[in-house]
Amino acid sequence: MTRRIAIVGAGQSGLQTGIGLLQQGYQVTLLSNRTGEQIRQGRVMSSQCMFDQALQTERDLGLNFWESDCPPVEGIGMTVPDPERPGAKLIDWAAPLDRPAQSVDQRLKMPVWMEEFVRLGGELVIRDAGIDDLEELAASHDLVLVAAGKGDIVRLFERDESRSRFDKPQRALALTYVQGMEPKEPYSRVAFNLIPGVGEYFVFPALTLNGPCEIMVFEGIPGGPMDCWQEVSTPEQHLAKSLELIRTYAPWEAERCKDVQLSDDNGILAGRFPPTVRKPVATLPSGRRVLGIADALVVNDPITGQGSNNGAKCSRVYLDAILARGEAPFDTAWMEATFETYWRYAKDVVNWTNSLLLPPAEHILELLGAAQHSPALASVLANGFDNPPDYLPWWLDAQACDHFVNIHLKKGA
Ligand SMILES: Cc1cc2nc3c(=O)[nH]c(=O)nc-3n(C[C@H](O)[C@H](O)[C@H](O)COP(=O)(O)OP(=O)(O)OC[C@H]3O[C@@H](n4cnc5c(N)ncnc54)[C@H](O)[C@@H]3O)c2cc1C
Repeated sequence: MTRRIAIVGAGQSGLQTGIGLLQQGYQVTLLSNRTGEQIRQGRVMSSQCMFDQALQTERDLGLNFWESDCPPVEGIGMTVPDPERPGAKLIDWAAPLDRPAQSVDQRLKMPVWMEEFVRLGGELVIRDAGIDDLEELAASHDLVLVAAGKGDIVRLFERDESRSRFDKPQRALALTYVQGMEPKEPYSRVAFNLIPGVGEYFVFPALTLNGPCEIMVFEGIPGGPMDCWQEVSTPEQHLAKSLELIRTYAPWEAERCKDVQLSDDNGILAGRFPPTVRKPVATLPSGRRVLGIADALVVNDPITGQGSNNGAKCSRVYLDAILARGEAPFDTAWMEATFETYWRYAKDVVNWTNSLLLPPAEHILELLGAAQHSPALASVLANGFDNPPDYLPWWLDAQACDHFVNIHLKKGA
């Protein structure tokens, strides 16, 4: 008998999983609180830079519709300004990625994936799902996945105290999508600027509604000078504030911005949220159970640009587990085991990301500094974004990190 799966949320994980299931002959119902057109006409939601392994999960499902139009992100660069010499750099290196990353504006991607979902025979329902809807879905489907990202409904899933390091937002976030920025030479990159005591600024090429753009991402330490978006009320002010911040804290980046304009009036965002890990299974009033997926359960600060990557990888894990389950019931033990399979990967992403939200440890500053002298080390640091477990355990352990750095410095000598 055809198995029926319900999914709440038409984002990276919900649509990718729904389409993957339809391709395997499952019946899928997907609830979205916005139509494709509303998503397209709305605000940007993310900077959604995705690295190769995550992009591969999309390629495997034939969902890489923008691969040839989207400008590639070819490398990662890291700059730390010198606190003693205004305008000068203390650390500055860049390394190519082995395979390029890409960022396709979710306003462009999700409406097309919704069309693809319907084309494959999926049932798309436009509704802001509440508990009653979950009850109905759980009664009529073999499995309900809650892929609602940061939506209110994910509070159904209990916060996992032991896995959640923070209970407050660690950064004031802002996005500014622009066109007209001078490209980075000799290769495009995510240009990270770590500004001690202030926050982070990073920028990289992407594809938005009206063509290629660059996405400026601001990560302000709460209460610091980059936590300033409440003063801004119009798109023009948002762009002006973005440029003012980089002129002050990363002037080398401001030089690329002499001719920038906003991609569109909705190409801006400001907000904050606490990085959180939740327990994977929620019990409805009837006693029926639903399973969370991706950001609904593990939401990271965007400082390391991992959320969409995690969403794609989590989707792959869940899809494989659903297919492997065959005709057997999707019971609580299966739900918990499925999440734990994902968590074995995600825990390293969480620990690495959280470490970057705290004032940098001495060994991390030394590591970032040493990468200036070792292209091999810079390459390891750049390519780890594709698979953050590669950073562990040495990233979090001063002695192991020291050892790791020395091996690379000796190799380069
Ligand atoms: C400022 C910022 C920058 C980011 N930059 C990056 C980056 O560079 N790289 C990266 O990998 N990740 C990045 N992310 C994170 C990334 O966007 C998310 O992790 C990813 O979109 C999560 O996918 P998801 O499927 O879990 O949820 P989402 O993509 O959030 O999708 C959830 C969907 O569910 C819908 N929904 C919510 N509640 C309901 C409901 N009750 N009923 C029906 N529908 C509902 C929502 O409207 C939404 O469409 C960034 C995030 C932010 C905020």
